[in-house]
Amino acid sequence: MPLFRLLAIALLSWIAYLVLKNFLRQVRQRAPAVSRRRSDFTKVLRCQRCGIHVPEDEAVHREGKVYCSEQHSR
Ligand SMILES: [Zn+2]
Repeated sequence: MPLFRLLAIALLSWIAYLVLKNFLRQVRQRAPAVSRRRSDFTKVLRCQRCGIHVPEDEAVHREGKVYCSEQHSR
């Protein structure tokens, strides 16, 4: 039955295409997570008032000292 064999090959290649497409989508979604994890290693600074540790980009700098919030910098 050549027709049946042809259909089976077509079906198998279609499934393979779907699996590959799904796999590529997963790889693409995983890529940003890796770079996000790498950015977690940003410098952490200690608040001069309460001693809490805050990421450098969230810290408040005032008169050469580091604070966790605008409130503590006053
Ligand atoms: Zn503080």
